Amino acid sequence: MYLLGPLLLASAVSGQAPTTGASLTILSREGRRPLPVVDVQGHQMAGLDDLSNLFQLTIREDSAANAVTVSYKTRTVVLTPDQSLASMSGGRLISLPAPLTRQGRRWLVPVEFISRALAPMYDTRVEFRPASRLVVVGDVRVPRITAQYEDSGGTLRITFEITPKAAPVITQDQNRLLLRVEADALDALFPPPPSQNGVMTAIRAVEPNTIVIELGPRFASYRTSTPVSSGAAAAIAIDLVTTAAPVAAAPVASVPEPPAVPATPLPVFGAPRPSIRTIVIDAGHGGDDPGVKGASGLTEKDVTLAVARRLRSTIENRLGIRVLMTRDDDARIDADARVSMANNNKADLFVSLHANGSPRPSARGAAIFSLGLDKVEEDARRQSQANREVLPVYGGGSREFSLVEWELAQASHIEESTAFAALVEQRLKDTAGLAAVSIVTAPMRSLAGANMPAISFEMGYLSNPEDEKLLRSAEFQNGIALAVTDAIVALRDRLDHGQAVPAAQ
Ligand SMILES: [Zn+2]
Repeated sequence: MYLLGPLLLASAVSGQAPTTGASLTILSREGRRPLPVVDVQGHQMAGLDDLSNLFQLTIREDSAANAVTVSYKTRTVVLTPDQSLASMSGGRLISLPAPLTRQGRRWLVPVEFISRALAPMYDTRVEFRPASRLVVVGDVRVPRITAQYEDSGGTLRITFEITPKAAPVITQDQNRLLLRVEADALDALFPPPPSQNGVMTAIRAVEPNTIVIELGPRFASYRTSTPVSSGAAAAIAIDLVTTAAPVAAAPVASVPEPPAVPATPLPVFGAPRPSIRTIVIDAGHGGDDPGVKGASGLTEKDVTLAVARRLRSTIENRLGIRVLMTRDDDARIDADARVSMANNNKADLFVSLHANGSPRPSARGAAIFSLGLDKVEEDARRQSQANREVLPVYGGGSREFSLVEWELAQASHIEESTAFAALVEQRLKDTAGLAAVSIVTAPMRSLAGANMPAISFEMGYLSNPEDEKLLRSAEFQNGIALAVTDAIVALRDRLDHGQAVPAAQ
């Protein structure tokens, strides 16, 4: 059953002048509607007027308090120009990647407002899926679909994972394979086909629910199988079998153009930019700052560098992501320089490695730290009056707290950092020998200036002899590198698919 009508004309919902950015598509039982998006200094912003029309929000401008209140029924969020923090009814703070911005007569908010502020206020499910630029509202079926390729010479295997489970109907139409999935829309993210494979030239999702695989000149036949899949995902593998010999170029040109499938040109989901392209690994301490020292002589600066190097090669070999190290030798590096390096290189993830020390020799295990906004806020309150900011709250009054410059950068990434910490914790649980793993949010000054998701990872206690022995072993060091790499894969998957990350508080 497909309740979705044809695409509405892409006129701006509010009747405003056309915008330059690509639209998001709001997908609900009622159909599809475009939500125009404007690019402001690298941030995708949507108009509060458009959001108000689409989601029945009430927008109230309070010029005395220099604030804009967005309400849905009895729930509110108060936004302030030039503030990337906003307060929700109930006292909760949310962070946005960019502040409320005025453009002409309109107020703009970053599109993350939809998942971070609108979704918690709304009665029905609201999900923002950046990969397919969809905002899913209410009870519509939009499975996530990923593809992986495995080229074994004679056969190219494409393995699709579909969450929640659905079984596609596969048909061949001339030199295309079509996979139709029972769904209202697809949230699809496909890597480009392996180059020079000859059996498959392109893959894309077309609205509403079909995946099209363009077959190459070496395509002979296909077969499908259903590999065992884990959890909520259905897996389906399609093997594209190649012809015995490569086909010469000449006959290809004479192949008649196949009929367009479907008959009318349909918008294609663009290949999105991968969310994690550069990672900075920070080996803690160095030079004349050895950090914690174990009873048998292992120093924190040596163990952090050893693990950093293993982690770098695991990430580079398995994920092909660029890795930068804050240090690759025994050098002293300033704390601010470590974070600046990540910021200056536009890193997408910052992982700082440390080992712990305790006066209590029995203390053991690993801990993953991310910045805690609530504690930062408390901490900030104690700072000088000079940097005070006032954040108005709904119903009058205001809450006052200071935001010093170093806090602002990490404040927009706290959800992702917390999510990443949890992913590392999950993956570490299987690491042999590790006594315990905990996750901690704390006002980490070392992370506060990082303008990307960031964690600080205490890998064990050098003050404990058993942990020291573990930290010295290649097996344990490799185990840690693998666990963090797996967590990066999971984080990338979440970010690419816009999966909700845990709330800031
Ligand atoms: Zn340390």
